[in-house]
Amino acid sequence: MLYTSTRDSSVQATSFQAIAQGISGEGGLFVPEAIPSLNPSKIEALAGMDYTGRAEYILSKFLTAQGGWEGELRDCVCKAYTDRFSDPAVAPVKHLGGNDYMLELFHGPTSAFKDIALQLLPHLLTASAKKIQSGKEIVILVATSGDTGKAALEGFRDVPGTKIAVFYPSEGVSAMQKRQMATQEGGNVRVVGVRGNFDDAQNGVKAIFTDPAILAGLAAEGRAFSSANSINWGRLAPQIVYYVSAYCDLVNRGRIALGEPVHFAVPTGNFGNILAGYFAKAMGLPVGKLICASNRNRVLTDFLETGVYDRNRPFYATSAPSMDILISSNLERLLWLAAGRDSGLVAGWMRQLAQSGRYEIPPAMLKSLRASFEAGCCDEAQTAAAIHRAWHDRGYLADTHTACALHVLDEYRARTGDETPCVVAATASPFKFAADVLQAVTGRPAPADEFAALAALEAETGLPCPAPLAGLEEKPVRFTEVCEKGEMADFVRF
Ligand SMILES: *Cc1c(COP(=O)(O)O)cnc(C)c1O
Repeated sequence: MLYTSTRDSSVQATSFQAIAQGISGEGGLFVPEAIPSLNPSKIEALAGMDYTGRAEYILSKFLTAQGGWEGELRDCVCKAYTDRFSDPAVAPVKHLGGNDYMLELFHGPTSAFKDIALQLLPHLLTASAKKIQSGKEIVILVATSGDTGKAALEGFRDVPGTKIAVFYPSEGVSAMQKRQMATQEGGNVRVVGVRGNFDDAQNGVKAIFTDPAILAGLAAEGRAFSSANSINWGRLAPQIVYYVSAYCDLVNRGRIALGEPVHFAVPTGNFGNILAGYFAKAMGLPVGKLICASNRNRVLTDFLETGVYDRNRPFYATSAPSMDILISSNLERLLWLAAGRDSGLVAGWMRQLAQSGRYEIPPAMLKSLRASFEAGCCDEAQTAAAIHRAWHDRGYLADTHTACALHVLDEYRARTGDETPCVVAATASPFKFAADVLQAVTGRPAPADEFAALAALEAETGLPCPAPLAGLEEKPVRFTEVCEKGEMADFVRF
């Protein structure tokens, strides 16, 4: 399987190169040249396996290369999905009620769905780097809206041959997210706040990746950059697995018959999670609709309604900060697929996006996207109301991001009457956003101190806080640096 770029069809890369490099030289994203297929008998076979078995199989379809991954993939997967996940199922499916199910993706060490890919990526990346860049040190650059940063730090800390620098919007993450990153352990890590929002941090990282002077300096030192953001295919591929896994679990429990369609509702920011669902569907998993849920930053809702992507709008800091994004990077991969793999068209739209902040796709293309995607958004009051309802009516404690998806799913069901089984991606532990969740559950203001809010949420619900979050209070703060958006390049060589 070879990879090409969304912006230049003459690019050809092996899976090793795609993962080690992270982003294509001209700024496009790596995409597989073909999509492997998954037939019903294979799904049935996967249903008989555990999570690591399912992961090894799905990944082996995308990560093939001469000089191969054989054997190594099994090794990588087994190192990733260990007891660092508090649930042995890794990504368990819970019945919420009626035809609604929760796919819990937050049982990893940092309590958000990013762990599922980022516990695996360091193993894929070091294996890839060994194959193609013998001896080079890999410097991982990450822009984070809150959860990726911590998950990447935890995945890469003290991994030999790597360093990792994480940039977060200094006022744009939750108190708990900031604390998680500021207390990160490891000798190869660095955490920097950026005065700006997530899009500024992401644009800054993308600019560094393609800056010839910085790249030359780094190469002279025997080092190379890579990305742990979902622009890296090595982040995307592991996320395809849990869509397949959830489907298998529903078949195993007799909730659906093999071949019956299932919808997925996904709280969306950078479009990485839901895009993995689209790849699962394109492989042949019986996925009905992919329901794209946004918060008050509704750029994707508008795009999927009108075909116009327009980032020229106010940016809102919300209680679901990991979705506070106006430039959803992975949409580029979907555009490439929907445009019949026309890299010229995609490159043109991305140029327009960079220059004017806006582009528009043709009506026929919008129509084909809408055959797979539904979209909706959720404001702050609706987020709180969705948390309140889920807890008091259905006994489920949802975080602020997951609540957006619950809200959008409810609206979808009310609007269409469609009662097809739907799996909601639960992307973070509610304890990660304890103050907002507590306030939504009780209707009263939460304690201002985040650890007091944690304790109060435990007391209110009787549910246990994940140990790594509770333990943060005792950990020393190591990183307090903040820089201007123009200064990020000064922090990447350390
Ligand atoms: C990152 C994140 C999202 C958004 O996922 P994308 O892949 O960026 O669309 C949603 N919820 C939580 C909790 C996250 O950490």
